[in-house]
Amino acid sequence: RGTSPVPPDVRPRLTVLSGPSGVGKSTVVAHMRKVHPEVWLSVSATTRRPRPGERNGVHYFFVDDEEFDKLIANGELLEWAEFAGNRYGTPRRAVLDRLEAGEPVLLEIDLQGARLVRQSMPDAQLVFLAPPSWEELVRRLTGRGTEAPDVIERRLGAARVELAAEAEFDTTLVNTSVEDVARELLALMLEVSGQRADGD
Ligand code: 5GP
Repeated sequence: RGTSPVPPDVRPRLTVLSGPSGVGKSTVVAHMRKVHPEVWLSVSATTRRPRPGERNGVHYFFVDDEEFDKLIANGELLEWAEFAGNRYGTPRRAVLDRLEAGEPVLLEIDLQGARLVRQSMPDAQLVFLAPPSWEELVRRLTGRGTEAPDVIERRLGAARVELAAEAEFDTTLVNTSVEDVARELLALMLEVSGQRADGD
């Protein structure tokens, strides 16, 4: 009778990928989705309008303000934050289910969200995605071409503050190549899940 405690070093842990806006987090995640479809990625809820090509339930759950209020009120979000005028949040149940099933879980969220996860799940592995340089970050933020100038301005302001947060993270990955970062990220995820990468 009784349960045998799972050794802490093989308990699956949550990995959080964060970093300044425009650093390429979603590109890394898109690459992960393509090359490693077996890796489960949390799909966030957001009040932002979909960009061209974004699909509901795949890239985000697109909800209105009222629905987002309900998610908060019902305690359905593991964390949520307001970013550049929109709200974003991680559905709690799906994440906990995956962790309980022993699967590695990846969240791609903003810095405020990463801090909230650190508080509620001190075990989480926080990975900071850094741009190769500030100039490169500005180029990426201005070059996306999907955002209005005032939105870009707000995102640049946030990015400047967010770059300083690197010190709070467990690990930094510099985004020089999407393929390299995705490979390193997966290795980190498997490492804290007590699993090993299978080569490539
Ligand atoms: P975007 O509008 O460019 O898709 O995302 C804007 C920012 O929101 C990015 O930094 C992204 O990582 C972050 N984000 C996406 N989903 C979530 C979430 O569920 N929670 C938090 N805190 N941030 C999120």
